[in-house]
Amino acid sequence: MSEITPQRYDVVVIGAGGAGLRAAIEARLRGKRTAIVSKSLFGKAHTVMAEGGAAAALRNANPDDSWQVHFRDTIRGGKFLNNPRMAELHAKEAPDRIWELELWGALFDRTPDGRISQRNFGGHEYARLAHVGDRTGLELIRTLQQRVVQLQQDDAAALGDPEAMLKVYAETAVTELLKDGDRVAGAFGYDRATGGFLLFEAPAVVLATGGIGKSFKVTSNSWEYTGDGHALALRAGANLLNMEFVQFHPTGMVWPPSVKGILVTESVRGDGGVLRDSEGRRFMFRYVPDVFRSQYAETEEEADGWYTDPANHRRPPELLPRDEVARAINTEVKEGRGSPHGGVFLDVSSRMPAEEIMRRLPSMHHQFKELADVDITAEPMEVGPTCHYVMGGVEVDPDTGAAAGGVRGLFAAGEVSGGMHGSNRLGGNSLSDLLVFGRRCGLGAAEYVDSLSERPTVPAGAPAEAAEAAGAPLAREAGDDPYTLHREIQQTMNDLVGIIRRGPEIERAIEVLDALEARVAGVRAEGARAYNPGWHLALDLRSMLLVSQAVARSALEREESRGGHTRDDFPRMSARWRRVNLVAALEGGRVRLRRQDLPDLRPDLLALFDRAELAKYLTEEELATTAPAEE
Ligand code: FAD
Repeated sequence: MSEITPQRYDVVVIGAGGAGLRAAIEARLRGKRTAIVSKSLFGKAHTVMAEGGAAAALRNANPDDSWQVHFRDTIRGGKFLNNPRMAELHAKEAPDRIWELELWGALFDRTPDGRISQRNFGGHEYARLAHVGDRTGLELIRTLQQRVVQLQQDDAAALGDPEAMLKVYAETAVTELLKDGDRVAGAFGYDRATGGFLLFEAPAVVLATGGIGKSFKVTSNSWEYTGDGHALALRAGANLLNMEFVQFHPTGMVWPPSVKGILVTESVRGDGGVLRDSEGRRFMFRYVPDVFRSQYAETEEEADGWYTDPANHRRPPELLPRDEVARAINTEVKEGRGSPHGGVFLDVSSRMPAEEIMRRLPSMHHQFKELADVDITAEPMEVGPTCHYVMGGVEVDPDTGAAAGGVRGLFAAGEVSGGMHGSNRLGGNSLSDLLVFGRRCGLGAAEYVDSLSERPTVPAGAPAEAAEAAGAPLAREAGDDPYTLHREIQQTMNDLVGIIRRGPEIERAIEVLDALEARVAGVRAEGARAYNPGWHLALDLRSMLLVSQAVARSALEREESRGGHTRDDFPRMSARWRRVNLVAALEGGRVRLRRQDLPDLRPDLLALFDRAELAKYLTEEELATTAPAEE
């Protein structure tokens, strides 16, 4: 049997994006011996790709902003399906987390009088996104990594070893969580470069593994977003919440085919870019839904006036929440008014001088020049929807990040967790979510460890079993190759559980996915364990398949359209579903769903909305019993 190298920690954080780093820093600050395990290179996480910014009511751009307005925008964006406690904590604590980052060395763009500059984004009432050009995620990760190194230097000085309290295991993928009864006892993984197996013994494990986008064919997500954390949680006995809600970002590149899906940041629209059809018409004015009509401009003149005088103009419809814009683009293309390569036009070149475009959107200019030979200062971009973010995720306790379900010692933060964003996330709310709940999760894990009278023990045979399962694809003499299976999962999810869904198509997807189970279980990879991408993918397939099944089953169950979940056969939001969370758990190896009541909105939080707006979302019964009466 292969050798397994054991390591012992108090807290193991799986994932080195914003959520994982912030959680690890907090656990280490609370005196816990902490490991950060990352499948990708240290510094290469989704977070680093974030362009637009981090949303926080700093009130620099507009003194009328407040945590209450941010909370209200978040709940509106999520179509009232957000966990209210999470949305409240997020809106209240995001400013502190941004200022903390600045203390740790982040260099945000400034206003002329030297405060942190904030930019507009879809669904946010006020300019709210702290940013660094269009490379905000890079600065966030750089700063958090610098903080990790600083803590390691402190430990080197105090303990003689920089890794005594906080160690990074880069390019190390976790394949199993190990349990002692109902308690997490550690994690098992492998080093991607050498193929060596590792055992992390720890009473607390934090999942911070990001999203699931690689289960879809057209996606802005990169190779590591295979839903490992979602699947690990399910298999360990935790619950996934509302997995039907997958966000399709309206603007991904559509051409050339090799880069299809790569993100075109919402900042392009936030900074003045407009969407046009094949005839040059700004079509978004025709797609403002009733629930948003009072907040969005009806004419181009009014919309353009908003950029310089937001107090006296309503917002441009290009800045509607992402689900609305993505559906509008989808319809334009379907009805034959699209661009030559199957998207629509996003034009910034006619809206501001070339130098300003270069200053505000340097990465976008570079991206289009390098990848599509398009100069965005001179011509429009072609864009279309791309799978971007999953709102569904591990059900957690909002205050501590502890996973719900039958497993203790498991925590989750960031994109892998669910509830915060309801049915649709607002742009910029992820980076602030990572910081707020990453910190809370690190704290929650540390307090949990302190509360234990004895550490759990990894059952004797469990590491060897995990090693055997990991090595199995290489030991097989026959079986499908992992790339074929990956393509089949992606095609199925894209075609049958994509941006517009229909009952019979989702049923078909479930059949196809279920039929793939045996083939994925028998997948064969060639070669040996030292750096072998085919083997890595073979192991990732198990997560991708399980997560896809959870998405498809949830999508079939929810018979309404809300946020990131659009059912052609149930085109409206339904009062019947207004308060329903769909909870997925694994029973006898199969994903089972049950319904759970959404927690109530407290009266003081309900009072932030006027009754006319609440009437669009709440049931009549709720309105009668809870909503404030009209003045
Ligand atoms: P990630 O940053 O995704 O990190 C996940 C980590 O988990 C990685 O280190 C990965 O290697 C590791 N991992 C995964 N599986 C395993 C495993 N099995 N074992 C070990 N490690 C594992 N949001 C905003 O708020 N503002 C923006 O401007 C913005 N722009 C974006 C632009 C792009 C192109 C994309 C793709 C997303 C953008 N988002 C933005 C969304 C946001 O970046 C992500 O939601 C967020 O970064 C997720 O952070 P995270 O810490 O949860 O996970």
